[in-house]
Amino acid sequence: MEYFYKTYEECRNRFRNVANELSSNYNNARVGKIKVDSMIDPDLTVDWLYIPAQQQPRKLLVLTSGLHGIEGFTGSAIQLMFIDRILSRLSLEELGVVFIHGLNPYGFKYFRKVTENNVDLNRNCVINPRLYQSINAGYSKMSNLLIPKGELSIDKLQYRFFHLNAIYKIIKESLPILRQAALQGQYEYERGIYYGGKRLEPQLAALEPLLRTLFEDYQSILSVDLHTGYGKRGKMHLFLNPINDEKVLAGLDYVLDGEKINWGSDADFYTINGEYLEWMGQLANEKLCIPIRFEYGTLDSQKTLGALKSIQIMISENQGAQFGFKDQKSKDRVMQDFLDMYYPSTVAWRSKVLTDSSIKMSKIMNRFLEYEVAGADQRKAIASITTQK
Ligand SMILES: [Zn+2]
Repeated sequence: MEYFYKTYEECRNRFRNVANELSSNYNNARVGKIKVDSMIDPDLTVDWLYIPAQQQPRKLLVLTSGLHGIEGFTGSAIQLMFIDRILSRLSLEELGVVFIHGLNPYGFKYFRKVTENNVDLNRNCVINPRLYQSINAGYSKMSNLLIPKGELSIDKLQYRFFHLNAIYKIIKESLPILRQAALQGQYEYERGIYYGGKRLEPQLAALEPLLRTLFEDYQSILSVDLHTGYGKRGKMHLFLNPINDEKVLAGLDYVLDGEKINWGSDADFYTINGEYLEWMGQLANEKLCIPIRFEYGTLDSQKTLGALKSIQIMISENQGAQFGFKDQKSKDRVMQDFLDMYYPSTVAWRSKVLTDSSIKMSKIMNRFLEYEVAGADQRKAIASITTQK
């Protein structure tokens, strides 16, 4: 359990120490931080470590934690585990690695999923700014249910029961179109859940030129984004927006080697606008950028009861954050539920997450390094012919 901490600062300190130590072991490694301005806190940073390929740059791994702030505790633990157990066994002759730690430091530190502007970063990653002006009519139809007004009180259980039942009917049973509308992201209700913002959030705007520059040196990129809260408890899910690009699909297929993917377009799932991994694919331009989003399940949200509980917790936490809590008891209860949903405290859950990640990520890295081996051989053959002349 050595990788799991209770506060943002502890996670960040550990990451910084490890990053500084590592950077002195490799040629031209760099550490850095992006300061995120805040109305309440002068010490919020996205920290990063870049170790370039040590000989011939070909492939780049980008491993991101804390895009959804509170999910950063587990993401940070996985990054630390990856550095300890996997990185040292990888050859960095052709492989470069970037670790992005705590992409949403405000949410990380204050136990929220969203940024200080109530923005869900996984709805905010927009290349075409017209998306920020888009209207989500389905969301509007449900806005009273999705954004209840007034102080949150846990004593009003009766009310919440009916309220949630209504949402559940709409989302799960009656109208899949509306479920999609509720979850895909919205750009009108700044106090609502799944709000994508009006412009790129500052840390993404700062990250963009850095990523573009790093990508220039490599031929292909594997981008892994770490999340918690969705799916079967203790299970490591692979969750992706649909992909049309055949080159990306082929790469993904090879790298995953038969691992099951939950596609957002499947019957019980949903697609997302403004997604981080899609944005990164666009920053990579013509290069191959293979996206992988890991979700570590906590509440069995694939089942009826878990789905109901998940949305209840999300709506309640947001209501408290927007309109306040009626009393301390209500606040404690909701915050504890929120923490249990995104950062379970049991040893069983945490060790399962680490073990599964260690096995699957080792395998994925080996496959990624192998991929296009034929291409490399061909290049060697061409090179030797050229030399023989
Ligand atoms: Zn997430």
